[in-house]
Amino acid sequence: MKFLNSVRRVLKKFSLCDECLGRLFKKLKPKSDNKKIALAIRKNLEIERTKPEECYLCKGASEKVDEFSDKILEKLKDIEFDSFLIGLHLSKDFEERENKVLENEISQFALKFKDDLKRKIGKIIFHKTGKKVKFENPDVVPVLNIPSGKISLQIKPLYIYGRYLKKKRGIPQTKWFCRACRGKGCKECNFTGKMFQTSVEEMIAFDAMQMTGANDEAFHGAGREDEDVLMLGNGRPFVLELKSPRKRTLDLKVLQEKINKKYKGIVEVRELVLSERAKIQEIKSACHRKLYRASVKGKGNFTEKIVRKLEKTFNNCLITQQTPTRVSERRADIKRERKVFKFQVLEFNENRATFLIEAQAGTYIKELISGDSGRTKPNISDVCGFLCEVEKLDVLKVVEEKVADEKTIL
Ligand SMILES: [Zn+2]
Ligand SMILES: [Zn+2]
Repeated sequence: MKFLNSVRRVLKKFSLCDECLGRLFKKLKPKSDNKKIALAIRKNLEIERTKPEECYLCKGASEKVDEFSDKILEKLKDIEFDSFLIGLHLSKDFEERENKVLENEISQFALKFKDDLKRKIGKIIFHKTGKKVKFENPDVVPVLNIPSGKISLQIKPLYIYGRYLKKKRGIPQTKWFCRACRGKGCKECNFTGKMFQTSVEEMIAFDAMQMTGANDEAFHGAGREDEDVLMLGNGRPFVLELKSPRKRTLDLKVLQEKINKKYKGIVEVRELVLSERAKIQEIKSACHRKLYRASVKGKGNFTEKIVRKLEKTFNNCLITQQTPTRVSERRADIKRERKVFKFQVLEFNENRATFLIEAQAGTYIKELISGDSGRTKPNISDVCGFLCEVEKLDVLKVVEEKVADEKTIL
């Protein structure tokens, strides 16, 4: 009796449609549907029915399950997915109204509007598409806004892991926006908005975006080389993130062939495989030792004696590098230690020489050679006794190893 009095009190304050009334007691009768529960209560209390559109709480939204589901199905029509989860966004007033209704002693039995609607729509989408509901990391989340009825889609990105080679100089790894206009386009950049016409990122991403219908992308490299440095050997690992793809199955062999044919002699990709978001962190935090070949020009002549001294100094050598002046605009000015594992002079003739250098990830090779006005110590110019500058630099190999290994070596 006490219970029925409480219900009577709530209904006196708020007129609720059958769906909203029944939902208040759903946890008492989880198998029963809202309308049946409501009918029993109304009979008991002899209270008349409230029209859905006059419902204080949902203003009729509870009756629109089919309409909302149809709209969601329409949105999902051209999207390829295996799993989904319904998202619901309620307006602030809606939530406030529901909180008011639930501020009483009977609310312990209530199921929330959001959970109820998500479940009902989820069931319909499952039946009509055969795709399964997945709570963690679903392929797509249609988000329904109440009361507007608008739907937005959150589509899980696709991640493609691979390795790239760069065989031509003058190409940056990633899109590089014009410093003057920051991408808008100005005289300085010939209205392209970019410092360079293209990049490794753009060459790899273009066809991948076309094939998947992605609306944007992000390129994650395991480190980067300067635009004038070649990336050879086994290539540099990368993850291409394709945002909001409309297709999730793609033939990576076809993609690889497309890219490699189009950019023959410029950029090559290898070993493309579908991957996961975690791979980005993995390639970013892995230590990639690199083997470089540097063609160097000196202000003086290289001699047998200098060459021996260079090899003695820089084989297994710990160097200190302060952030180079050429990148200090973009990076914090700090001092850090880096290891040069191997140093070998391949050939020398008068003021020219070719070095083979194997160094830890993040070593600034150009500065190791020039000395960067004493910001790198020790440096090759100091040991030679004259200034040396890199003319050509190539990455011959990227060697992946675990973080722990790198630490024990140091
Ligand atoms: Zn209602
Ligand atoms: Zn510009």
